[in-house]
Amino acid sequence: MKKNNPHPPGAEHELIDLELNCFVCHGRLYAPLADARNVVATVNSGGTALLLCPYCGQGNVIRLRRPPDSVPSP
Ligand SMILES: [Zn+2]
Repeated sequence: MKKNNPHPPGAEHELIDLELNCFVCHGRLYAPLADARNVVATVNSGGTALLLCPYCGQGNVIRLRRPPDSVPSP
């Protein structure tokens, strides 16, 4: 039995789960693979990246998570 897939999965159209939620509508944020690479590269280099929420259009600023030892002690 042959399987005909009219839409073969293309790597560039793959959506990456950023494990983040929009701070306005709390929708899960996904990015196309190509964009996700840029976002991760930008964030890893110490910068921030802006990701538009696909649900409400709000721009979410993505920052690198701070290591625990950088949290100021009370
Ligand atoms: Zn949103």
